[in-house]
Order: sequence, then C-alpha cells, then structure tokens
Amino acid sequence: MCPIKAVFFDRDGTLIHEKPGTYLSNPAQVRLYAPVPAALKRLAKAGFHFFIVSNQSGIGRGYFSEKEVNAVHRHLQDLLKPAVIEEIVFCPHAPHQACSCRKPGTLLGEKLIKKYDIDVQHSFMVGDKKADVLFGQKLGLRAVLMTTANGKNHLQKYPDLKPDFIARDMARAASYILRESKRA
Ligand SMILES: [Mg+2]
Ligand SMILES: [Zn+2]
Repeated sequence: MCPIKAVFFDRDGTLIHEKPGTYLSNPAQVRLYAPVPAALKRLAKAGFHFFIVSNQSGIGRGYFSEKEVNAVHRHLQDLLKPAVIEEIVFCPHAPHQACSCRKPGTLLGEKLIKKYDIDVQHSFMVGDKKADVLFGQKLGLRAVLMTTANGKNHLQKYPDLKPDFIARDMARAASYILRESKRA
C-alpha cells in the first residue's frame, strides 16, 4: 500500500459560510462557498483525498448535540458530491475542558494520518483560523490560511502566524496546492 496524499479542511468559514458568533446546527443553514466544488474537483483529479477536522465546541457548551452535528455532516457530504470526504472528525469539547483533540491540538490529525497512511510531506491543511494553521504545521503539513471568515483578523491579531500560503478563496487555495504538488 502506498501512502496517500490528503487535504485536511476546516469546516466553518472554510468550506461553508460562517456567521460570526453563531453556531451552526441546522442542515438547512449549510451553504458552501461558491468556489469549493470546482476546487475539490481539481484536487481530486490530482489524486488528493479529503478529510474535515472541525472544532465543534457548541456540543461541549450545550448548544446542540452530536446527533445534530452528524446531520449537518450528512447534508454537507451530499452538497459536496461528487467529491468524497473520506472522514469528518470533530472535537466536541469546550475550550475549558483542555482536551487534546481541539485544534490546534493534533490528536485528531494524528489518528487520521495513521489510519489512512497519509504522506504528510505531500499533504495540506486548509482553514481560516490560527488554530488551523498551527494544527497543520505541527503535523508537518503545509498550511493554507483562508481569509474568507476569520483569516484576515487572525493575521492582524497574531503577527507570529506564518501560514505557508494565504488564500482569498478556495480556487486560489487549490491552485497553490496543485502548484506545490507538481514541484515535489
Ligand atoms: Mg473555521
Ligand atoms: Zn476535544
């Protein structure tokens, strides 16, 4: 078996629209960013496998249940078809629970890398927050910061943050990943 190359995506503010300060728990409110389907098609064609790693602290805060999150994810998978997300994993804890699965904690990523034999040197993380960039870089992935939702703020707020690439939309993120993977 050959190791696979993967793109890990954050969910809210990266693949789907995020309303700042709100927690999404209703499948009917899931809205993909427009460039996402075509970008995933290009990446899949180049042989990338897809995963979603999400912090869902709304569960730990008691705002919604794991069951509701799973319903959102089933709907998201439908919207993304024909692209396939191999697995969606999430941290259900609130920040004060100090778990090791909440990004930038790397536990969920480590498990996926082991389970799917992912080649980290040829794989990427795409997200819109500092926690996403740190999660990716700690795992040895190259990290793309999306300026779609929180990215711009986080660049200003955290001057030490050094994403490998900054993308204004998913089409640009995909182009960067495809360029990098040709060089390797
Ligand atoms: Mg996000
Ligand atoms: Zn957790």
